[in-house]
Amino acid sequence: MNDQIRSIVIVGGGTAGWMAATALARVLGRQTATITLVESEEIGTIGVGEATIPPIQAFNTLLGINEDEFVRATKGTFKLGIEFLDWWRVGHRYFHPFGVYGHDFGPIPFEGLWHRLNQAGQAEPLDHYSICAMGAAAGRFMRPQPGGNTPLARIGYAYHFDAGLYAAFLRRHAQAAGVTPREGRVVEVLLDTERGFIEAVSLADGTRIEADLFIDCSGFRGLLVAEALGTRFEDWGQWLPNDRAVTVPSANVGPPTPFTRSTARAAGWQWRIPLQHRTGNGYVYSSRHVSDDEAAATLLSGLDGEALAEPRQLCFSTGRREAFWVKNCVALGLASGFMEPLESTSIHLVQAGIARLLEMLPTRRFERADIRRYNRLMTAEFESIRDFLILHFHATERDDTPYWRELGAMSVPDALQERMRIYAGTGRIFREADDLFTKTSWLAVMEGQGLRARSYDPLALAMPLAEAQARMARIATVTKAAVGHMPAHGDFVARIVNETVAAP
Ligand SMILES: Cc1cc2nc3c(=O)[nH]c(=O)nc-3n(C[C@H](O)[C@H](O)[C@H](O)COP(=O)(O)OP(=O)(O)OC[C@H]3O[C@@H](n4cnc5c(N)ncnc54)[C@H](O)[C@@H]3O)c2cc1C
Repeated sequence: MNDQIRSIVIVGGGTAGWMAATALARVLGRQTATITLVESEEIGTIGVGEATIPPIQAFNTLLGINEDEFVRATKGTFKLGIEFLDWWRVGHRYFHPFGVYGHDFGPIPFEGLWHRLNQAGQAEPLDHYSICAMGAAAGRFMRPQPGGNTPLARIGYAYHFDAGLYAAFLRRHAQAAGVTPREGRVVEVLLDTERGFIEAVSLADGTRIEADLFIDCSGFRGLLVAEALGTRFEDWGQWLPNDRAVTVPSANVGPPTPFTRSTARAAGWQWRIPLQHRTGNGYVYSSRHVSDDEAAATLLSGLDGEALAEPRQLCFSTGRREAFWVKNCVALGLASGFMEPLESTSIHLVQAGIARLLEMLPTRRFERADIRRYNRLMTAEFESIRDFLILHFHATERDDTPYWRELGAMSVPDALQERMRIYAGTGRIFREADDLFTKTSWLAVMEGQGLRARSYDPLALAMPLAEAQARMARIATVTKAAVGHMPAHGDFVARIVNETVAAP
């Protein structure tokens, strides 16, 4: 095969760039193609992005990363889900757990039986059927225990980590796998006149770097995909109007919680991400509804511990590039599009892009069919995440500020409208082929945001009521008992951290 890709240039050394570099180097090996990553210290990275979702475990496995080493190097903690405060109504709390609620009963879905019992006033709260929700509420964590029909086998988890340390950690792995880092500012992108492909990038010091394949990880600007190749941005601000964030780290108060917290505010929402050495906080808001100063004051007044730095302001647009792969350039990370971190999906989208690129690794012919397929699949993934996010803002009873009144009244994309209608009818939820979020996720957020089913799935009638009650009660009892076997999350993390100290 003489038309294989021989050289890859990645522009950008943020989380996206180093994730791509590490994964490509690891999978392709040193023999296939040279990989160069260009980054600019002067421009810097966005420096946020510290909460993740469970598929990141697969990424670490692909990279051959030892989880304990990873947690130590990134000052990480574990995450069992997200706690949502004040989203449906002020004072209300719900939990979006990883893992699953209970289990299905053959053809009868869990949620069918739950709705049936709930409508008869005989169901327990959803959290009682989830080991992740119950573990989180108790401040406990353990990795899933293999084997056995126990809720402990079904613990789903992800991580919180320090973004700067994560990039540094990946950089070490990438360099060890043969990636060449190159410091310098790209000042020009050179296109070939015939096909409009990217031929090379020029750095400020005059160096020209050529490659067969370019990966644009240059952040919001999209230096290659947008500025050089002219790919337009599809703006989703009509559904997700938040366009700013103000962030600040704060001192830890007490042991780290095994979950991210999201608290709805007057014109957006505030995150709290517990790490070993600090807590990350940020208020994501709509600049049409609140001033930067007011947002910073709200953020600072809602911290658990003392602020450790001055608040930092960030601006963003929500949406996606009309194409993610254009000619010989694939955009990943912020260069490809952005949705607010309400469900911690951006780093996952980088991972998904890398996985698909590897699946459809091009030759120098760059087959159009591959490119079309890549763009179609990534578009579907972006859109299903978009709809899941919109659900949080739209399905709420909050009408206490113009922000919430606008979001409650907006018209939502058809696919989401359909999901909400189906749920309102029979409480049914479903997962489309490429949906990232599971039935558990949709059920948690539909119920948590106050949607209620009028009826329930007729399949639930296939089980006699008394048996349904007994089986569901058993799930809740076993789940509660299982939580007792989980250690405190702080102790679990401390044990991992202290292992290095003890090691020779
Ligand atoms: C407020 C906020 C909170 C977030 N929270 C989360 C979260 O909790 N979970 C999550 O999954 N995601 C989150 N994200 C998204 C996440 O931060 C990003 O997806 C991730 O950090 C990847 O960023 P990036 O590498 O694409 O861009 P960046 O970090 O901006 O990196 C861009 C790189 O390109 C380089 N560069 C740019 N121009 C040039 C040039 N001319 N020459 C050379 N190099 C250049 C820069 O120096 C840098 O190295 C959040 C984003 C925001 C805005």
